[in-house]
Amino acid sequence: MDLFTEMKALGHERVLLCSNPEVGLQAVIAIHNTILGPGLGGTRMWPYDSFDAAVVDALRLSRGMTYKAAAAGINLGGAKAVIVGDPKKDKSEALFRAFGRFVDTLGGHYITAEDVGTDTADMEWIAMETPWVTGVPPELGGGGDPSPVTALGVLHGMRASAQELWGSPSLAGRHVAIQGLGSVGGYLAGYLKEEGARISGCDIDSDAVAEARATGVEIVEPGAIYDVECDIFAPCALGAILNDETLPRLKAKVIAGGANNQLADPQRHGAELERRGILYAPDFVINAGGLINVFQEFIGYDQERALRRARGIFDNVLRVYSIARRQRVPTAVAADRLAEERIGAVKALGPRHWDRAVIERLSSAH
Ligand code: NAD
Repeated sequence: MDLFTEMKALGHERVLLCSNPEVGLQAVIAIHNTILGPGLGGTRMWPYDSFDAAVVDALRLSRGMTYKAAAAGINLGGAKAVIVGDPKKDKSEALFRAFGRFVDTLGGHYITAEDVGTDTADMEWIAMETPWVTGVPPELGGGGDPSPVTALGVLHGMRASAQELWGSPSLAGRHVAIQGLGSVGGYLAGYLKEEGARISGCDIDSDAVAEARATGVEIVEPGAIYDVECDIFAPCALGAILNDETLPRLKAKVIAGGANNQLADPQRHGAELERRGILYAPDFVINAGGLINVFQEFIGYDQERALRRARGIFDNVLRVYSIARRQRVPTAVAADRLAEERIGAVKALGPRHWDRAVIERLSSAH
């Protein structure tokens, strides 16, 4: 791979390659854009097959964080880190502390958190070496598990979609099919039950299935979830599940779920959904609850405030639909424009963009 070409194409500011052979650390920190604030994004630990695969993942994920924060009105930039390794076998205190020292060298331009393969215990090790870490446990002043807040945001994005399409935000009697009944999908099913929705769901994990079934979720086979005759499809598992194979099978009128990077090809599949008359709630807008939750750690964690902000995803999703209607573009494009316009407007303010109070608060929080 030609790294500079990739960075230029995606608009990255900085990429740090981290190596400490003594503790088995190989990591990549990608800072995409810091106009709105320090780049925040989790650290993923995954047994990547190659250097290129690790770098591409860090580049792609960090860009997504820029858009998520910008669209949510949060004063953060976008960044992400990946550690090459198997989270089940390769974790150690020394590895995460070595990684924490690399994070520290960036002086707050990169702030980390949990992601796939890392958890709050790993964040505690990182916090021994740097103040630039969020997602620490509540007893250390953090917000803990962001999933309930993410799920609440998804629920309100779903209500906004119902408002847009059917003229009422009520989900009572609506049939929702959830793919993935893990943390986000599980909480979402609970909220939907309170709303009086009918819920179908699937998971590849038998424990998750058993738990959901016990709460009244109608279970379908994972491969059959795309064919369910439902009003709303909620992807809450993996990315790239809206693709050439699955789109023709969908019966839903709305797609609104928590998974990241749902569209295999954002431009093409975003347009295809519109052509098929399916209203798509863009993933990084509707699933910003987790980031909203983490951001509260900058200003003194307060769960009530986090939940209130997450409910605001209702208005943000409607804003995206309004842009899409006015500018006659697919909702995925409208979401990009919402994010890009905010970054452009703040950039126009001049060279110093960061909210200093946020940075000082984080430094003193640890
Ligand atoms: P999780 O691991 O708790 O749950 C994911 C579930 O999906 C698991 O139970 C898994 O068994 C299931 N799954 C995997 N492949 C499947 C398949 N092919 N069919 C059906 N089920 C399958 O993860 P999570 O924290 O709930 O996150 C879910 C999605 O939401 C991810 O894409 C994640 O990146 C995104 N997300 C999560 C948060 C958060 O706060 N947790 C925030 C923003 C975005």
